[in-house]
Amino acid sequence: RMKEDGKNSYTIFEPSPNSSGIERLTLENSIRKALRLEEFVLYYQPQIDMLTGRIIGTEALVRWNHPTLGLVPPGKFIPIAEETGLIVPLGEWVLRTACIQNQIWKEKGYAPMSVSVNLSSRQFSKQNLVKTITEILLETNIDPQYLELEITESMTMNVEVAIEVLGRLKELGIQICIDDFGTGYSNLYYIKLFSIDRLKIDQSFVRDIMTDSNDADIVATIIAMAHNLGIDVIAEGVETKEQLDFLRSQNCHEVQGFYYHPPLPVEQIEQLLMKEMEIDTKL
Ligand code: C2E
Ligand code: MG
Ligand code: MG
Ligand code: MG
Repeated sequence: RMKEDGKNSYTIFEPSPNSSGIERLTLENSIRKALRLEEFVLYYQPQIDMLTGRIIGTEALVRWNHPTLGLVPPGKFIPIAEETGLIVPLGEWVLRTACIQNQIWKEKGYAPMSVSVNLSSRQFSKQNLVKTITEILLETNIDPQYLELEITESMTMNVEVAIEVLGRLKELGIQICIDDFGTGYSNLYYIKLFSIDRLKIDQSFVRDIMTDSNDADIVATIIAMAHNLGIDVIAEGVETKEQLDFLRSQNCHEVQGFYYHPPLPVEQIEQLLMKEMEIDTKL
């Protein structure tokens, strides 16, 4: 029964445990089926060196090409995939597909570029991660320096396990990036400990660079810190020329965002790469 103090009253707005359980189960089963039917698709968002305007890499971002719902964004299914553990097979598919695609582009003769893949903690804690990645590297023949794994500060990881796994991944020659930098627990000591190659400044800071002096200061500080530590830095969510100019003034030249390109399907990335190639042959 509802109480007067309001403490329990909000619970009536929550879905009953049963219905949410059923929804969850339905979604879980559809994700499982979608994996089998290969309904997932990767979009790639270019990462640009603003000094040259060239694509230096892409970030692979998964979408669900649902037969009736259309293109479903990752925010709608990644959390459930994480909860249910389905992120492990899905994440492996993403890794393999991204590496195969990057290798195809290389073999087509486009200038070499990296591919970044998002990792969730569920995959990370899995004993198999190093083994899986080793296999994928062998299978796809991708040069490990062109594979970057994106981890976040908010990933719940056992520090000792993380040090070991990240150490072994580094031994394989792949790159490690901290995604959404500044939004989680920034234990700066870990940055050193984990031998991070790149920091990706979270888009929430970039968004308000021009209007919020605190955000501008935070972004400038992250860039300076990365430089001092000898770590690469990239800004995410760059949408305007003003943001770009600010980043340039702070010596952050690697950017990703709608100002240049949104995440794009394979064919459209290829058109961009082809254009770059044409420019090169004209030079
Ligand atoms: P993220 O890794 O931080 O990816 C960046 C997100 O910002 C992408 O959303 C991208 O479309 C969006 N974005 C890029 N540039 C701009 C911009 O200029 N303005 C704005 N407003 N947004 C921009 P998306 O594709 O919906 O992905 C959302 C999140 O889903 C990702 O955030 C990542 O955490 C997760 N995700 C996506 N693919 C995977 C995956 O394969 N595995 C895992 N574990 N997570 C994934
Ligand atoms: Mg990311
Ligand atoms: Mg991010
Ligand atoms: Mg590097």
